[in-house]
Amino acid sequence: MFLVLLFLLLALISLMLVCVSFINRSHIKNRGRVVQLILMATFTVSCYMFFVLVPPEYAALAVFASGLYFLSTGWLVVFLMLFAADYTNIRPLSRAPRCVIGSLACADSLSFLVNTFTHHMFEVESKMAEDFLTQYWKVQLKRPYIFHRIFVYSLAIYILCIFAYRLVKAPAIYKRKYSVILFQMTAVVAVNILCSVLKARFDYSVILYATLAISISYFALYASPRGLLRRIQSTIIGDSVIGLFAYDNAGKCVGVNQVAEKMFAGEAQIVEIAESYLSEWREEHQGNPENVISEERTVTNNGQKTHLNVTYQKFLDEKGRNLGYCFQFEDRTEMVRKYMIEQYRATHDMLTGLWNRSAFEEEVKRILANAAEPYCMVCSNIKDFKMVNELYGTDAGDRLLAAQANMMRRQEQGSSASTRIFADRFCTLMPRRYFNEEQFLENMSRTMELGLSSSFKLHFYLGVYDITDVNEPVWTMYDKAMMAIDSIRGNYDRSVCYYKEELLQHILEEKEVLGVFDRALEEKQFIMFLQPQIANDGSLVGAEALVRWMHPEKGIVPPEVFIPILEKAGLIHRLDLYMWENAAKKLAEWKQRGKEELSISVNISTKDFFFLDVYETFRTLAEKYDFDIKRLKLEITESALMDNVREILNTLDNLQSQGYDIEIDDFGSGYSSLGLLKDINADILKIDMIFLQETKNTERSTTILKNIISMSKELGMPVITEGVETKKQADFLMQAGCDMFQGYYFAKPMSVEKFEKAYF
Ligand code: C2E
Ligand code: CA
Ligand code: CA
Repeated sequence: MFLVLLFLLLALISLMLVCVSFINRSHIKNRGRVVQLILMATFTVSCYMFFVLVPPEYAALAVFASGLYFLSTGWLVVFLMLFAADYTNIRPLSRAPRCVIGSLACADSLSFLVNTFTHHMFEVESKMAEDFLTQYWKVQLKRPYIFHRIFVYSLAIYILCIFAYRLVKAPAIYKRKYSVILFQMTAVVAVNILCSVLKARFDYSVILYATLAISISYFALYASPRGLLRRIQSTIIGDSVIGLFAYDNAGKCVGVNQVAEKMFAGEAQIVEIAESYLSEWREEHQGNPENVISEERTVTNNGQKTHLNVTYQKFLDEKGRNLGYCFQFEDRTEMVRKYMIEQYRATHDMLTGLWNRSAFEEEVKRILANAAEPYCMVCSNIKDFKMVNELYGTDAGDRLLAAQANMMRRQEQGSSASTRIFADRFCTLMPRRYFNEEQFLENMSRTMELGLSSSFKLHFYLGVYDITDVNEPVWTMYDKAMMAIDSIRGNYDRSVCYYKEELLQHILEEKEVLGVFDRALEEKQFIMFLQPQIANDGSLVGAEALVRWMHPEKGIVPPEVFIPILEKAGLIHRLDLYMWENAAKKLAEWKQRGKEELSISVNISTKDFFFLDVYETFRTLAEKYDFDIKRLKLEITESALMDNVREILNTLDNLQSQGYDIEIDDFGSGYSSLGLLKDINADILKIDMIFLQETKNTERSTTILKNIISMSKELGMPVITEGVETKKQADFLMQAGCDMFQGYYFAKPMSVEKFEKAYF
């Protein structure tokens, strides 16, 4: 029995040392506490072994050894208490009780050490065993020993309570972590009490100290984390959102979780589905040596498409032998859907569903990079679109834009792309052969009528750019198509314009003129030229004031180059004001020089009426300069009067009543010239030069001319014909009864100095 005990204790000591070395190498929490505890247990067991091995003749040594054993049991429970606090996550004792316990443990130890000499705690006696072969030490406890017992048992009870409390509170998977230690500790206490009650020859509880220490290290190292891990794994497989197919090494399906069942089909055929899935996969990935392969795939189940991230895994043992396979299916449908929505938002115009600008640019580049035929870019713009918003509301405006987008989408053929640049500006790239101008215009017109009242007609413009260089920047192509639109903007009789290189030239010219206009006006680069007007008796009536630009680099620039540009830009009134003032000043000067019978005709542009108070301007001029109002004649073109704008007609009436003569310029160049005469009470009719041009219909022209002249006679209006270039024309006009002439035959427009030199 004795030898068995010795052998057992020796084995337990070595086992505990092995545990210490394992724990030291691991990364577990509370490692220090566990090591302390096991070393203490090792020490306790060693002390006991030392005690039982002391030979009978060394009684004092036996007392010392037994004292060491007793005091170490005191420290063992102290360390057990510290470990228990960490292990159970119960807040450790605060400083004061810790100090008390520490002091008691120290006093207990001291008492046992002193006992070696005083024998106040216990005595030992060498006894012969019943077999008369072995001898053992019998310990005789004295009264003061009770203090040691109280100290140790109360700590033990405290520890048991901690474990019991945790055991009750802990979730099921953690219960084992506490229950085993609780059970062992109870056993230690019970055996200890039993040994002392039965006055056993040996303290068998020492064996349990060691097993307790060993099982604590086992639990700290493995047991509970592994259990937890198993639980987590099974939770992931069972309850997770990841579908799972598992197979043995022969490809036989050994498990399918519910998620996978739902992803693929009903339970009925799921095993067959899983098995054929694996065999198809292996066929597809033949020759791929990877053990883990991930792929995005879709499955259709009951007509519903599911996007999956499939991970295939082959399991191998440490020797590389195949253990089995598994598939994990992660449902990405929602993610893919969100991604697609994001993608759509990032690349589309939300109102129309067409590409947005940046996506359109990419799309055009992509299409043109693969272009095998000519392409064109078509831009559209609705005239006065903001009126739709104002009159019918923005909803109606939005509906119109959406309708146009639909129309453009329907037009798309071959590789095409459309976008809304902003507001009502659209742009389409399409193969040239599919652009059918008539069809496009018709579709556009039909769209423009949608939802709006029939009295409201929207006009629109199309700019077409035939792409010659596919590598040209996309926005340059767009600018060119827009340039074509800009060149017809404001025209009601044109809807389509094709970009030509001259357009670019024209736009550059426009920019140049507008850029230097202010300075040119300030530096008086604009000069008044005069073209004489001659009466039918050959006498000089006066002159028409015609502007010339003395460009510092280009020389004399004729008015048809810059007047339309200034009119379009709304700047013509500033030039006209300057010309009218020059004419008024000149008339005042001539009056002073005794030439008050000469008149000057000035041109008034329609645009002047929008930017100026024309009546007020001429009233002020008459006030500022001393000239005869009758001598300043105001030429206004027939086309300006044709629109019959109330304010213009009123202004002209007012000017007439102030004494100014109004001349209708370019008479006969319009469509309803005669109708005009009934509404406007002009003073002089200035017949356009087209009637004098040599054409196939010269005869008809002369007839018309004759009739205009005779009709104006009847109306009591003097007539002047412009563009008289030959004697023949002059003679004919004279015969027809024309009152005055203006033309190269008599004189070309000339500087004021030249004019004065020639006629004064
Ligand atoms: P317009 O008012 O019809 O002026 C008559 C134009 O006919 C002038 O051209 C004149 O030089 C030209 N002309 C005169 N006799 C003959 C001829 O026998 N044969 C031919 N082929 N042409 C002749 P110009 O000076 O180039 O002016 C062109 C237009 O520019 C004018 O047409 C007028 O509409 C505008 N314009 C000229 N000066 C001004 C101005 O100060 N203000 C405004 N608003 N417009 C002006
Ligand atoms: Ca004129
Ligand atoms: Ca004219």
